Amino acid sequence: MPFEFPDQPWRGTTYWDWTLTPVKDAGGRVDRLVLSRMDTTERVLREQAIQKALTYAESIVDTIPEPLLILDSNQRVKTANHAFYKMFKVSIEETKDRLLYDIGNRPWDIPKLRELLEEVIPKNSHVKDFEVEHVFPNIGRKTVLLNASRFQQDAADMILLAIDDITQFKKAEEIRLENERLISANKARSEFLSIMSHELRTPLTSVIGYSILLREQELGKLNKKQEFYVDSVLANGKHLLSLINSLLDLAKMEAGKLELVVENVSVPEIISDSLNLIKEKARIQHIVLKKDLDPALNVIEADRQKFKQILFNLLSNALKFSKEEGGIIKVSAKKEGGMAKISVSDTGIGIREEDIPRLFRKFEQLDSGITRKYGGTGLGLAITKQLVELHGGNITVESRYGEGSTFTFSLPIAR
Ligand code: ADP
Repeated sequence: MPFEFPDQPWRGTTYWDWTLTPVKDAGGRVDRLVLSRMDTTERVLREQAIQKALTYAESIVDTIPEPLLILDSNQRVKTANHAFYKMFKVSIEETKDRLLYDIGNRPWDIPKLRELLEEVIPKNSHVKDFEVEHVFPNIGRKTVLLNASRFQQDAADMILLAIDDITQFKKAEEIRLENERLISANKARSEFLSIMSHELRTPLTSVIGYSILLREQELGKLNKKQEFYVDSVLANGKHLLSLINSLLDLAKMEAGKLELVVENVSVPEIISDSLNLIKEKARIQHIVLKKDLDPALNVIEADRQKFKQILFNLLSNALKFSKEEGGIIKVSAKKEGGMAKISVSDTGIGIREEDIPRLFRKFEQLDSGITRKYGGTGLGLAITKQLVELHGGNITVESRYGEGSTFTFSLPIAR
């Protein structure tokens, strides 16, 4: 009988094995009892220490965030930690003392894993970062790195298998690579555009220059037909030039090479200047120009030339997409918090609601019939939006098909 002596003053608790043996006389009667006792304190304390160390080791294994398995040499699971049960959504009953390949609905019956455990590990005592990709029934596709080492316990070979789930990392890595690829493709495209634009502009300048010279007729009179042809060369040359200029602007903006030259700019002045630029065309098209300016809004910090370009682009569109009988174009400006809010409204042909999301995309023209009639490149609004955003503002549009449109952009008053 094991026996525990509590709190002896000179030794503390001691442990004993006691044996009581009856000794019989010749007649078969018990006439004596022999009591022997053996001090087992040292052994018990040693066992307790081992148990403590074991619990300690198990609690460490359990708190390790990576799933861990300890297998015997026949691939039976001896121990698994909390992280393993959690990640693979299996219970202790489904796991302990089972063949690894048989856990749950046999998700672990993976050829590559068999290869690792049955061929690689017996030859090497350590295996590092053995990658396995597999679709697990409960948790879906996972990529894991397996690290394994062989060790001996009680003369038997055991295998420690650590599982590192790198699925997220792999996904992030794929996204990063894809991003890099896109960025460099985008950069290459922008560079290509910018080189092409330069190369195209040079010959065009002479096409336009010489047609202007011809059209001035100082070198000789043109007949009606020749005049018509030269006009056509000139108009198309100018159109091509504006297309190339727009492309160059866009390419520069996309490559992040367009920088703002910021100065104090008077909003009323820019609005007046821009309205002046379209005054003559508006008069011919029977369009009345109006403005409505908030006196609280005057000077803002912006790039003068780009601010003008934004407003001029919107005004040109308002003119271009006006109705044949004429109408009204109105520019309003007001202060809203730290922003200058400027709107250009027209009473033109308007935009269908479903077309609005396409408006600010490059090369988008909403209706090819209309475009053929009005001309244009489909780049104006894409550029305008980028110029506004470069300033830290934004641009929105409201429109009713057949009634007119209002484009509103905001620019920060102070940068
Ligand atoms: P474009 O050079 O063709 O004018 P934009 O990018 O400036 O290119 O405009 C894209 C398209 O948006 C135009 O082709 C037109 O269909 C539509 N759009 C732009 N502004 C207006 C407006 N004020 N009224 C109606 N439609 C407009």
